[in-house]
Amino acid sequence: MSDLYAEVILPLPLHDAFTYKVPGHLESDIAEGKRVVVQFGQKKLYSALVTALSRKKPENIDVKKIHEVLDEQPVVLSENIKLWRWIAKYYCCTLGDVFKAALPGGLKLESKSKVFAVDDGTEAELTEKEQMLLQQIGSENSTVDELQRKLRNDFSYPVLKSLFKKNCIQIEEKINARYKAKTETFVKLHPEIENKKILNNKLNDLQRAKKQQALLLHFCKKINAFEKDVLLSVSKKELLDGTGFTPAVLKELAKKKLVIQFQKQVSRIEEETENSQVSINLLNKHQEKALTEIQASFEKKQVTLIHGITASGKTEIYIHLIDEILKSGKQALYLVPEIALTTQIVRRLKNVFGKKVGIYHSKLSSQERVEIWDKVLQFQTKPENGYQVILGARSAIFMPFSKLGLVIVDEEHENSFKQFDPAPRYNARDMAVILGLQNNAKVLLGSATPSFETYYNAINGKYGLVNLKKRHTNVELPETLVADVKRAYKRKQMHSVLSPELYELMQGAAEKNEQSILFQNRRGYSPFVECFTCGWIPKCKNCDVSLTYHKYKKRLTCHYCGYSQQMPDSCDNCGSNEIKTRGFGTEKIEDELKPLFPNASLARMDLDTARSKTALEKIIQNLESRKTDILIGTQMVTKGLDFEHVSVVGILNADNLLNFPDFRAHERAFQLILQVSGRAGRKNNRGKVVIQTSQPEHPLLNLIISQDYTSVFKAQMEERKLFRYPPFFRLIKIVVKHKNQQTVDRAAIQLKQFLGRNNKLILLGPEYPLVSRIQLWYQKEIWIKFDKSLHLDNTKDFIIDCVSRTKHLPDNSNCIINIDVDPM
Ligand code: ADP
Ligand code: ZN
Ligand code: ZN
Repeated sequence: MSDLYAEVILPLPLHDAFTYKVPGHLESDIAEGKRVVVQFGQKKLYSALVTALSRKKPENIDVKKIHEVLDEQPVVLSENIKLWRWIAKYYCCTLGDVFKAALPGGLKLESKSKVFAVDDGTEAELTEKEQMLLQQIGSENSTVDELQRKLRNDFSYPVLKSLFKKNCIQIEEKINARYKAKTETFVKLHPEIENKKILNNKLNDLQRAKKQQALLLHFCKKINAFEKDVLLSVSKKELLDGTGFTPAVLKELAKKKLVIQFQKQVSRIEEETENSQVSINLLNKHQEKALTEIQASFEKKQVTLIHGITASGKTEIYIHLIDEILKSGKQALYLVPEIALTTQIVRRLKNVFGKKVGIYHSKLSSQERVEIWDKVLQFQTKPENGYQVILGARSAIFMPFSKLGLVIVDEEHENSFKQFDPAPRYNARDMAVILGLQNNAKVLLGSATPSFETYYNAINGKYGLVNLKKRHTNVELPETLVADVKRAYKRKQMHSVLSPELYELMQGAAEKNEQSILFQNRRGYSPFVECFTCGWIPKCKNCDVSLTYHKYKKRLTCHYCGYSQQMPDSCDNCGSNEIKTRGFGTEKIEDELKPLFPNASLARMDLDTARSKTALEKIIQNLESRKTDILIGTQMVTKGLDFEHVSVVGILNADNLLNFPDFRAHERAFQLILQVSGRAGRKNNRGKVVIQTSQPEHPLLNLIISQDYTSVFKAQMEERKLFRYPPFFRLIKIVVKHKNQQTVDRAAIQLKQFLGRNNKLILLGPEYPLVSRIQLWYQKEIWIKFDKSLHLDNTKDFIIDCVSRTKHLPDNSNCIINIDVDPM
């Protein structure tokens, strides 16, 4: 028979797939979707993924051989690779880029991944080779690359992989300082107790310490010490819980060298899985009707949009749909914009579907992510052990589903479905639609404020459309009023940042023991500080932005690159020590409100206070239990929170939403304000919303007050048609970056000249974006608009070609040029 060849992709930004020869002895092991070890470039070994096998001899004569096959079973399915190819083509990136985004770190074994030991391996029964590698790895963070260089022939990918499987090492793309592997205390017998005889003697020695004797006996039973299959250890919790033995007794046993207590890494996943299945809520009649309509729509259309107002109970409808899909033996994917903000949904799904649900997001360790990945894979062969439902953020579209029947994209308008950096710059909502098409699964997009692109598709019949216009408890949508802060400032009626209207409503709420939520889209204390004498404003040394003052830390911080410095005592420019804070961030608002509401308990929800998942959960819990009276927050408070007793919502400054220079500004402002408003009066009485602005006559505000989605949509469609923006035209953004400003200027103009050869393209720019330099890199943007009738693939090929020509011009080789298809 002729030789077998494998096409593989490497986790590198390379455009091609590469062909390797499969040596005879590996032919029976190799398969599409398995990882292999190959040599690439000088002498370096990489872990690569097999995407195709063929007996056709490649044209290239100099084909290298595959070194080893890493997996017994494929880790990726051919359906996955189909989506990857689609994404690479559509978003003008490489298959390697998609591979990197798709697989969890622990499966990629990338050369730049950090490896460190988390276990000494005494319990894991390691082979000699494994022990040796583990010792070499140690607790320092070395990269796979460094290990390879250091150990040369002693380095082995299969051994690295098995150490990972045995939980002895962690492999992370980035070391996340906030992330800590979860450990638990375990108890094992002291190594000096080598046999049963010694053990029996020791037990007898404890005659006079009855409690200790009893506990040791209890421990021995737990680990089956008197039987054949002895367990090595048992968790302290399992050992002591419900027994009446105290940790002090255990400590005595440890002192007497009878047992050893030690820390062991455990998974976080299992503990969350409770088995208490709660029955599904009955739908109200409006929801029932919407559900029937969705099902009917699914008969005719692949994709359906549910446009349901806030608190109409969309989640309940999703749960019913998932339940049905599960009963038919298929899998469901439930996408949410930010998993951290959905503790409420997580709880609800776990309650209803128990162990069938996996939660997939970036705050998990690489081990945990691989664990979830494996369980989704397992569904194909052992459905009872595998995950049938995945709730996840955008990267969950890459999960290895084998029987996908339904994809739900909740809050489909949210821009966190879009990945900005690095490539692939994909939109998970749009890729969910492709995923549905490729797997013949139904796709449901849901929102109270659908993106205008989606709504356009729905009213044009491309997607089905279902409306749900009643809140679950029939409360009306909140009453919204506009407060003119300019006038109130002039008349000296402001209570700090609160207009008299908002202030009064909040006082009223406080008296009735109800809660208020205030929205301000800036965190920190003040967005900038300024010298009162000369007007000097401290700026970031790496970026073209002013530094934000954080009072709690007494530091000035850059929100783009993280640079921070001490708050200066005096002006760098004139020496004056009158440095004033300017503008209001959430931190300052909290400060200002304290004296206004002395009896209220205030809380803040922004990136600074909700860094960790537990901190965020605490904030949400305090609102649920009504410990918090007033919550001040950034965008985070707009996202799907469901509290019963919030009666007042304030948007402190709508001006910067309305005036943002972007063709989607009005759409965004409308969505944002409607979403925050939707947090008010969800269950009992009608809520109140105050929008503070200095432009009360702004035409958009009237439409917001009347919550008139279709009017805003129509007005915007007129504009977008006129100015040739999506959904009428396609949009591609190109960003040229370099540390030297002249180079950026020159390369951007050169690129524009190349692009200009196609007179069907409308080119805007090159222009500096709002922030023209980030982390020392200058950037300029070119926006390309073109008619939908233009051949998409050819146009993209042309653009890619122009980019590559620009890069090959003299002195441009260090330019970074990013292509962003469908930018947000
Ligand atoms: P949406 O996502 O549309 O804003 P939610 O799904 O969060 O709305 O529902 C709002 C609130 O109403 C939630 O607390 C939810 O539990 C409750 N709810 C909605 N529908 C039902 C139902 N059929 N039975 C019981 N509670 C419901
Ligand atoms: Zn000054
Ligand atoms: Zn910066």
